[in-house]
Formats: sequence, structure tokens, C-alpha cells
Amino acid sequence: GSQQAQPAAKVLKVGAEATFPPFEFQEEKSKDYTGFDVDLMKAIGKQMGMEVQIVNTGFDGLIPALEGSQIDVIASAMTITDERSKKVNFSKPYYKSGLSIVVKSDNNTIKSFKDLEGKRLAVQIGTTGAEEAKKIKDAKVREFNSASEAYLELKAGGTDAVVNDLPVNEYYLAQGGNKDAKLVGEVLNAEEYGIAVAKKNTELAGKINKALDDIKQNGEYAKIYEKWFGK
Ligand code: GLN
Repeated sequence: GSQQAQPAAKVLKVGAEATFPPFEFQEEKSKDYTGFDVDLMKAIGKQMGMEVQIVNTGFDGLIPALEGSQIDVIASAMTITDERSKKVNFSKPYYKSGLSIVVKSDNNTIKSFKDLEGKRLAVQIGTTGAEEAKKIKDAKVREFNSASEAYLELKAGGTDAVVNDLPVNEYYLAQGGNKDAKLVGEVLNAEEYGIAVAKKNTELAGKINKALDDIKQNGEYAKIYEKWFGK
């Protein structure tokens, strides 16, 4: 029979700030992008017949990159907020999250968000954690380009606490951070992550929502969730 050439799959450019495990990060050796969001986008891409390409971008540069059409979507543990919704189209929520506090293991004074008043705080720039930290009375907030730099600052004693997404804090501690740091206090603000598409790109937004529904129905979403968060 005759061999028919398959058209090359279209590429979906996915912006992500890839130092945010377990959502998006690079394998130590291969430097391949991996994580919950990466697997999720691959599954969504497969459903749409598209190949996914991760474009590693600073978190505060993601929305500008989307507006400038350098990327097609953002999948970067990005919380759906009213502020961001003015600039982008969010998909349906795909993950429930929240903010929490990490301090040094020997810190016995910080036990809640209330105790952060007047303290030195480290956060990632452009995040909901940064926004929340700035609302705390007299807190001295320093913004880092990545969450990992904020954890390093805590380790070095240059800050009293890190305010960041709960699942990322938990992952950091589980990966060895718990040798000298711990989680304290309540989890703040139920937050939900969404996949962002440019305002003008309503067709793509619809396709992504459809693909999300599909992978929830066919069990693919549950598999990916289990892989990264299953006990
Ligand atoms: N969920 C947080 C936010 O949207 C942090 C995301 C991140 O640092 N990748 O601001």
C-alpha cells in the first residue's frame, strides 16, 4: 500500500516558570521539563492533537509573554485571580491550592500568619504569596525570582519565613528541606490554578476546557494527580 506522510503535529507553546516543583521543574540530569502541569499539558495537547513545547519564563514575565504571543498558554501553577482575569482568559480550575508559611525548624515564635507582623519575609515575585505578604503589617518583604531562592534565603538566615503555595512548600520539605525547616500555621485562601490563554484567543480557551473535561472523564487526569500527589 502507499505510505501517506503524516502532517507534523502543531506545536502548543506553553509558558511556565520551571523551578516550581512538583508543578514544573527540570529533571536533574536530562534537564527535561517535568511535573504535574507538564504532564497535564501533554495530556491536553494529545487530546488536541498538538505537541507541547515548554517555554521557561520568569513568573512575572508570563502574562506579558502571552500578550505578546511568544507563548500560546500559561500552565505554571497560576492562581485564578480577578486581577489576572482582566488580562487573560482562564480555563476552568484544574487544581485547588492555598498559601502557607515555612520557617526554620528552631523558630518557636511564628505559628500563624498573624505572627508574621514586623517579620522579614521571602516570596517569589509576582505571586499571590508576594501579594499576601505585602498586606502583613510592618513586614519586610523581599521578592525573589524563584521559590527556591526564597527557601535558600531562609536556610541562610536572611529571612524569618517564606510565604508560598502549600503543595510547593510541602514538596520542598519532603525533598529534604525538613532537615532544617518546617511548615507552620493555617493554610490561607483557597486558591485555584487555571490554564491561561490570551484574551483574543477564545477558540483555544474552549478547546482547552474541552480537553480538560475529556482527560477528567477518561481517567488521565486522575493518573497524573496520583503520580504527583498520591500517597
Ligand atoms: N500560585 C501562585 C500564583 O499564582 C504561585 C505560582 C508560581 O509561583 N508559579 O501567584
